[in-house]
Formats: sequence, structure tokens, C-alpha cells
Amino acid sequence: MSDALPCLVQVAVSTPAHSAVGDLLSYACAAPLAPGTLVRVPLGAREVLGVVWDAPAEPPPLPAGMAPRPVAGVLEGIAPLDAAWRRLVAFTARYYQRALGEVALAALPPQLRELTPEQLARRMRRPAAGAAAQASASATESVALSAEQESAAAEIEANPGPFLLFGSTGSGKTEVYMHCVARALAASPAAQALVMVPEINLTPQLEARFRARFAPLYGEAAVVSLHSGMTNPQRLKSWLAAHQGAARIVLGTRMAVFASLPGLALVVVDEEHDASYKQQEGARYSARDLAVWRAREQGAKVILGSATPSLESWHASSPEVDRYQRLAMPARIGAGELPRLRLVDMGQQPRGTAFSPPLLAAITERVERGEQCLVLLNRRGFAPVLHCHDCGWKSDCPHCSAHQVFHKIDRTLRCHHCGYAQRVPRACPACGNPDIAPVGRGTEQLEEQLAALLRNVITPERRAARVARMDADTTRAKGALEEQLAQVHAGEVDVLVGTQMVAKGHDFRRITLVAAVQPDGALFSSDFRAPERLFALLMQAAGRAGRDAQYVAAQASPPEMWLQTWHPDHAVYAALRRHDYPAFAQQQLAERREAGMPPFAHQALVRADARSQEAAHAFLQAAADAARAAQLPGLEQVFIFPPVPLAVQRVADVERAQMLLESPVRGALQRFLAAWQPLLHAERARHRALVRWLVDVDPQAI
Ligand code: ADP
Ligand code: ZN
Ligand code: ZN
Repeated sequence: MSDALPCLVQVAVSTPAHSAVGDLLSYACAAPLAPGTLVRVPLGAREVLGVVWDAPAEPPPLPAGMAPRPVAGVLEGIAPLDAAWRRLVAFTARYYQRALGEVALAALPPQLRELTPEQLARRMRRPAAGAAAQASASATESVALSAEQESAAAEIEANPGPFLLFGSTGSGKTEVYMHCVARALAASPAAQALVMVPEINLTPQLEARFRARFAPLYGEAAVVSLHSGMTNPQRLKSWLAAHQGAARIVLGTRMAVFASLPGLALVVVDEEHDASYKQQEGARYSARDLAVWRAREQGAKVILGSATPSLESWHASSPEVDRYQRLAMPARIGAGELPRLRLVDMGQQPRGTAFSPPLLAAITERVERGEQCLVLLNRRGFAPVLHCHDCGWKSDCPHCSAHQVFHKIDRTLRCHHCGYAQRVPRACPACGNPDIAPVGRGTEQLEEQLAALLRNVITPERRAARVARMDADTTRAKGALEEQLAQVHAGEVDVLVGTQMVAKGHDFRRITLVAAVQPDGALFSSDFRAPERLFALLMQAAGRAGRDAQYVAAQASPPEMWLQTWHPDHAVYAALRRHDYPAFAQQQLAERREAGMPPFAHQALVRADARSQEAAHAFLQAAADAARAAQLPGLEQVFIFPPVPLAVQRVADVERAQMLLESPVRGALQRFLAAWQPLLHAERARHRALVRWLVDVDPQAI
């Protein structure tokens, strides 16, 4: 049948991860198709979406006796994805050790996969809502930049970057981003900007700010969002708008780094230190690192912004390395002071209290004045475990090496690793003792206790104090988060209890006290990045207090950040007390240099999931042995550590182990990993008890 089709094209399709099928498949068609063209092609018994790829110098040979199957259809209405986008996808696949087709297809909106060319054509004919909105003459006035903002913006204007905008919380980084976006868009009618934030729940606020500023200039359709909280049709619409150039500004989470942006002129990565820029499944890419790569490749500028940069970025912007240009904005806008740190030594407090008397007094005082407080605890549920004091029974998950968390609200025990849930037993399942007790506390319990403790506290509006909770459990329903945020903004909530979700980015105006009730855990974690993450979280949480200098000036209470700790003299807290990120970073980097850890070394993890720990270890060990036996390129500069079980070693009845690889030279590690892939595939076939394996390049957590 393909006799009549003279042309051959290479198409990237998504084949099952790690399948033996190569990256590109050959298909026949009547006329040549430009690289980047979206097509539908047969794959086995199915018809799937594919992207025509650049023809390799040597097209892969077809299995003997097989004629290439014909392309089933071309998505005519969509211009081919440009070379810059294809280079980004190819680089991502290579760097993160995944199949090209998998990365390419995952980078496209899911709905493209489902629509036939006809359905798509119909959709594209439909006028986009709001597209007709004309740019109004009166743009919203942009604010006059402060001297610090002005100078940062001037540096960005005059230099190539990449830039690390090191600005305190509330220093006006977002204003600088908007200023730079305005400059970039004004410079060319085709120019586009990509602005990334770590969390979906921050995009609505950011979108509101950007929309207010830019919709009057470029129309409503010029500002679009891209994140996983959108419906598939919404995502497709945003994606098409970006691809066609109608969207001038794309706001999104990590996935937005793959948006097709032919006119890309500026990329902003806000809160660049945030761990959520690292994808945790499939291709485990870092959207921040890809943003820097993409910007350079496409000739765009890139701004990484943070009050507590990742140590990688901080080091890259040091005089020693000088890869990024560091721009500092230490002052808070409106000269609002950063909150004072109050450390409560829990060794001096009554045993077993969630809220030490001085902290409770401070919260009470604020609430009586009509001010708001934020209480942070990074653990949801009522208590992390139920315990029988008679026989020692604990609420262990039957499928994981972890406890089931007690959720009092619906009286369930839930495993936060595998999701397994059951009703709370009336008595100890082991010995029948009816007195099983929660041990430790989560946000549910804090909310309940605090509500009881503040029962008789009256606000200036003569109503009882109100405590609310915000975490993954309370915000699961669609729109719940927005509603809760609105209540806090409206002043209906006096104390907000929550997980790290409440610490991030929200511009709450009336908060004057932030408290972390149990932050110590991270100080002694086995993960070398734990102190960095704790410092960033606490700085960011502290940044929620006293954001409105006028409000604070009119009130008597100065903004405060409270920490309840058993280690009041710890170096992390000492740096935090001085709001001294540079000192913290210097101390951490000195330790990392000494220990040969990132950013002074480059890492990759190989993880194995199997029916037993032995099987997982055996696979990893065999893979390491095979690499050594084959004397793979780069091996002389790569250190392979022995396999170890993961901290939570069993999840959903699967045993997990990992093996760390480290090299002082990124290129050596990359060469080694590329050469190792075929050996890992071959090893996998020999280990029947293995469930899956994966490679994580530049892992966030070890
Ligand atoms: P960041 O992103 O660094 O936390 P924002 O850009 O959100 O800071 O600014 C904090 C607050 O200060 C916001 O309410 C913002 O509108 C305001 N702001 C920022 N820059 C200025 C300025 N130059 N003049 C007046 N207000 C400003
Ligand atoms: Zn018991
Ligand atoms: Zn479980």
C-alpha cells in the first residue's frame, strides 16, 4: 500500500517508557513533511499523535521485510513546532535519559492526543473568547520603581544575563519582572514572555496582577496560564495561543517551560529555589535548569528570582564562577521591616504543649488587636500515628514501611504514601485495649487545640476568634483554595494553621505574626539539602508577616516570626535571626565543598523498585558491575556508591532501593549515563523480580 507513497518521514511517538522501540519511527507519506509537523500515525493497533522530527543522517533501518506504514493524517491547522522547541525536547531527553518521543509528547497538551484533525480544525475555527478585546488606550499606570528596582531593571536591560535577582520577600521582585516583561514586549510585536511560578495556587494571583497590567495594553487574550489545574480544553487553548503568538505572556508552573513560544524574549523563574520545579516522574527534569538552557538557546533573557536562592544558583552567581549576574534588592518596599525572630526554647517550657505559653500569649494579643497570625506545621492530619500503650501496637500501613496517619475529621487512618485508608478501629486490633492514643500532632490537631485555647478571645469587631486550616486536605475540592484565601484576605480568619502551602507567596496584608511550631525535624535529616529547604521555608514564611508597612505602622505590634525549638543555638536559626541568607549560603557551601557535594559535584540516582529489597539491590549491583566490566566512557570520573534502601523503603508493597552516582565533571557523568542506558535495559531483562527502574539526574532529594 505504501508503494504509492514516495516520501519517508521520521516521527517521534510516545512508546511505553523503556520499550525496545527506538526513539523515532519511519512512516511513509505522499509529500515531504516539515520537521515539527504534528501528525497522526498508526502504532501497533492504535493511532497516535506524533511529531515529525528532523531526519537523522542515517535513518533507522526498518525491520527486514517491513514496509513503512503510512502517516494517517496531518494536523493541518497547526504550524510545525519550531527548531528551538525541538532542540529543547531533544536536549531534555538526552540530559534526563528518557526517550525523545516520550518527552516530546508529554510536552504537548493532552487534548492534542485525543482530537482528530477534523475536530481540531473545527476547534481552531471557533473564535477564542476575549480575543476580540481591543487594547484600550489607557493602560493601567505602572508604579514608579524604587531605586533598587530601577537599578536591577537597568542591569537586566543592559546585560545578557542569566540574572539571579536576589530580593527579600516583599522587595518588589514581581514589579521588576513586570517592568522587564513590558520592555521586552514593547521591543517587538512578536516578542513573548514566559513567567514561571512553583505552585498552581500562586498562578491566579500572579495572573490577576499581570492581567491588570498587560490586558489593557495587549488585550485579554495576550495573557494566558498553563498549569495542571486547568481542564484539558483550557490547556489546549492556552497552548495554541502561545504557539500561534497570540499569547504574549504565558504564566505557568514547571510544565510551561515546554510551551511552544516562537517569539520567546524573556523567561522569569520566580522562587527559583523551589523544589517543585523538579518533575518527580517520567522525565525528571528541572524546569529552572531547562529555562536557563532554553533562554540561552533561543536568545532570550532569563531572570531567576528568590529571597533564598538555591545554593546551585547562588554559587553560579558568585565571583568565583560568574555564570549568572547577581542583582540584590535587600530592602522591602515601603521600608516595612522584616519580622524579628523569636526563638522559644522548648527545653524551658512545660512538657507536651503544642503552643508554649509565650507564643500563645503573643497570638492572643494579636488576635485581640484584630491582627492575623499564621501557624506553620509541615504535617497534615490529626496525628502521625495511633499507638496502644498496652501492647505497643502502632497504626502501620500494611503496604508500606510507614505509619498510617490519623485523620480525626472523618475518623480514618490514611497512608500518605500509598493512599490506603481504613476506619479508625474502636480498640487496639492486637490486644483489644480500647484506649489507643494519637502520638504527635498534625495540622488538624493544631487547629482544634488552638480553637479551644482561643475560645474566649474576642476580636475588635466583637466576635469570637476564628481559626482556620489550609492544607492539601482542605483544598482538595475545586475552588476551595480560592475561597479560603479570600476569607483570609477579607479578614474573616484570625489564625490560619497550615502546611508549607500557607507560606508560599501569598500577599496577606494583615498578618503580623508567623509561627513555626515544630521546625526542628529538618535540622537532623539525612538529606544534605534539608537545612537549605528549612531556611528557605522559614524565610518565606517570615515574609508573610508585616508585608504592609502602613498597616504595621498604624498598629502597635511589630512583625514577628516565632520558632519553637529544642535547639535555639543552631546555626541555621542564628542566620535566620539576622535574615542573613548570604552567611547561611556561605556556611553551607563551605560544607558542601569540603564534602564534595553539589554544586561542587554532579549527581544522578538510579532507583530500582522490586518485589524484595534483595532483588532491587541485585539489579543495581549487577548494573554497576556491568558498567565497570564494560569500562564505560566517563567511568574513571564517576563514583558509584553501593545500593541502599530508600528512607521509606516499601511503598504499596514494592521494595525500593537506590544507588548514587557522583562526579566532579558534569560531562563525564552525562557520557557515562548515556553509555550505560543499553546495559541497564539489558540488565532489566535478566531481573524478573524487578518492577521498574529509573534514572534521576540532578536529584533533589537523596
Ligand atoms: P516580591 O515579589 O519581591 O515579594 P512584590 O513585587 O509582590 O514583592 O511587592 C510587594 C508589594 O509591594 C506588592 O504589594 C507590590 O504591589 C508593592 N510594590 C512593589 N514595588 C513597588 C513600587 N515600586 N512602588 C510601590 N509599591 C510597590
Ligand atoms: Zn494493644
Ligand atoms: Zn501505605
